Formats: sequence, C-alpha cells, structure tokens
Amino acid sequence: MDFGFNEQQELFRQAIRDFARREVEPIARQCDERQEYPLPLFPKMGELGYLGVKFSPQYGGSQAGLVSGAIMAEELSYASPGIFLGVYVHVYLALSALAAFGSEAQKEAYLRPGVAGRRIGAWAFAEPDAGSDPAGMKTRAVRDGNSFSINGSKILITNGDIADFLVVTTVTSPGQGLRGLSLIIVDRDSPGFSARRLPTLGMRAAHTAELSFQECRVPADHLLGEEDTGFSNAMRTLTEGRVIAAAFALGLGRAAFDRSLEFAKQRVAFGQPIGKFQGIQWLLSDMATRLEAARLLTYQAAWRADQGLPYITESSMAKLFASETATEVAKTAVLIHGGAGFMMEHDIQRFYRDCMVLEIGEGTSHIQRNTIAHQLGL
Ligand SMILES: Cc1cc2nc3c(=O)[nH]c(=O)nc-3n(C[C@H](O)[C@H](O)[C@H](O)COP(=O)(O)OP(=O)(O)OC[C@H]3O[C@@H](n4cnc5c(N)ncnc54)[C@H](O)[C@@H]3O)c2cc1C
Repeated sequence: MDFGFNEQQELFRQAIRDFARREVEPIARQCDERQEYPLPLFPKMGELGYLGVKFSPQYGGSQAGLVSGAIMAEELSYASPGIFLGVYVHVYLALSALAAFGSEAQKEAYLRPGVAGRRIGAWAFAEPDAGSDPAGMKTRAVRDGNSFSINGSKILITNGDIADFLVVTTVTSPGQGLRGLSLIIVDRDSPGFSARRLPTLGMRAAHTAELSFQECRVPADHLLGEEDTGFSNAMRTLTEGRVIAAAFALGLGRAAFDRSLEFAKQRVAFGQPIGKFQGIQWLLSDMATRLEAARLLTYQAAWRADQGLPYITESSMAKLFASETATEVAKTAVLIHGGAGFMMEHDIQRFYRDCMVLEIGEGTSHIQRNTIAHQLGL
C-alpha cells in the first residue's frame, strides 16, 4: 500500500508551509491578543492561488483536490488556527457551496472574486434554536415579486461581520421540515441585514458574529441551487468541510506537540531535561501516536473524496478523531509546559483555548458519532 503524497502534493506542502511560516505565524499571537483578523491576507492568498485550490481554472482556481486542500488546512492551522478559521469558512463552506450549486452569474459575481480574495464569504447555518438540529431553523425567506424578504437571526457565524456576502440557510417551505430549506446569498449591504461580533474563548483572531435579518430584501436570483434543496446541499458541503476540519485539527495538534517536544528537550528539572523522565516520554509518545492516527484518517478521507469513492463515514471519523486528538494534545501540552503553559505570553495557552471549537463546529463530536452510527445501519 502506498501512503505517500505525490511530488506535486509535496511541492505544494512546501510552498504553503513557507507561506504560512512567513506570513501567518509571525502575526498569530498579536492577532489573537488584539482580536483582529488580518484582512489583507485574503487578497495575498488569492494572488498566490491558495484560495482557489479546489475550484475550476475557469474561475481562477487550480482544482488540485481535497488532499491538497487538507495539506493547506494543516499547514495554515499549524501557523495560526484562529487565522485559518476565517479562510476555512470562506473557501470550504461559502465558496464551495457557490461552486457546487451556483449559476454562472452567481459564480462570476461571488466565486471568481472570492477565489481572488477580493470578496469574503461566510456560511450562515446555525441559529439560536438550531445548531445540531436544523429542524429547529426559523429564519424565514418569503418570495415577494422579484425578491426574497428574509426575517430571523443566525448565531456563531464565522466572518459574519467582515464578510462581503453570506450563504444563508433559510426556511422557504414551512411545514416541510428539512425539505423546506433553501440556501440564499445575502450581500452585506442588503437592507435589513446587520451583524454584531461576539466575544469568544478561543480562535480570537477570527470574527464570530450574530446576524439579524429584518425584512431583509434580496433579489430572487440570489437563491443558490434549487428551492427547498438547501438541506441536502448544505450536508454535501459540510461532508467535504469535515475533512478539512480534520486537517485543521491535525495542524493545531502538531503545533502544540512540536512545541512540547522542544520544551521537553530544553527544560531542566532534577538535574536533567524533563524529556528524560519516562512520565514525560510516555505523554509525548501518546501524543505522536494519536496525531499519526489522525493524519492517516484525515488523508484517507481526502484521498477517497478525490477518487470519487463514498467518504461520509470516513469524513466523520476523521473529524471526530482528529478534533478529539487536538483537544487531548493541547491539554497535555499545557501540562508538559508546567506553569509556563498557563501564561498568556506563551503560545500553548492559545492552542488550549482554540482547540475546543473543532469539537463543536461542523457538527459536534456527538453528531459525528451519530453520523457514524447511522452509516453502520443503527
Ligand atoms: C467559534 C465558532 C464558530 C462557528 N462558526 C460557524 C459558522 O461559520 N457557521 C455556522 O453555521 N455555524 C457556526 N458555528 C456554530 C456551530 O456549528 C454550532 O455551535 C454547533 O453545530 C453546535 O450547535 P449548538 O451550539 O446549537 O449546540 P446544541 O445543538 O444545542 O448542542 C448542545 C449539546 O447537545 C449535544 N447534542 C445535540 N443533539 C444531540 C444528539 N442528537 N445526540 C447527542 N448529543 C446531542 C451537542 O453535541 C452538544 O454537546 C460556530 C461555532 C463556534 C463555537
């Protein structure tokens, strides 16, 4: 069996790693402390082709596949999970849905400038009463002549207050349950739309927002995909997104691990580096083993997607295992660092604050287990 990356993928990893170490890692701590997103990163990444990795050359992309997408996620998250969160939602949720279900006009208006990093997207699915359970969704879109009128609210939306456009899941046929949902593109300057940033425990470089739609007017041709197919289209988008979320977690876990390994070699206690103590060695051995298992699950799911093989189960398994691994590794990393791990001037506390969101977003760990159980026929 061949578990290797091809030459093109290795070259891509080197390029994105160099970019991440040069452009992202040096600003990671400052962006977290100031709770500031580095917006110029979008056009910079667009110019270098990174935002178009998964999209057709027709719209400025390189169609390099999900394995390459996972490589990019792992390397950018390694440099800064908080900064990568904004890129992730833009590329793998908002633009991804546009590429899959958009009309030509929509792709020209949103996908092309999105790939160039000139317009930023958000994915607005979660609501105050509908996170894990979309059946509770209330945001309602009513057709009124040549437009939709949208009323309702969304919560916890990444890029929500900085995005130029949002892909919003709405109820278009009440009483039809999940068969009555539709995706609609909402421009930031649409009348009746407003966004308010919410403070968060971690991922503080990213913006997380609450959205409000009050008689929000959107042209009828902003419907994305067929009316009432929003739920299945959202699930298709999220299945792919979960593989990227797994790679996201892997990058965060590796970053916490690498710092811990280095620290264990440098920090002296009882006359020797703490890495000489078997107790610390076993912690690091377990971290490395779990990360390697997460890596194999993640790239296997991405590889299956690129081969056109079914990968719903694999994507949930990868996301579940990699995100729980990231949490475990980040927690152990704090312990290995001792008191230094608890200090704001070190990076370790940041990984510890950032990691939990990967077990929550894109379907919580419970929801991933539900999906796997469903795929097992239970
Ligand atoms: C920082 C951050 C950024 C986010 N970004 C976005 C974004 O860009 N776009 C977006 O749409 N959403 C986003 N989310 C929202 C995220 O997707 C939801 O928080 C998540 O799906 C969980 O929904 P909830 O918060 O409503 O929790 P709930 O669904 O209320 O869940 C509460 C608890 O109950 C458990 N639970 C619920 N149902 C079941 C069940 N059937 N079986 C077992 N356990 C269950 C959950 O696992 C969880 O432990 C973001 C969240 C965070 C924290």
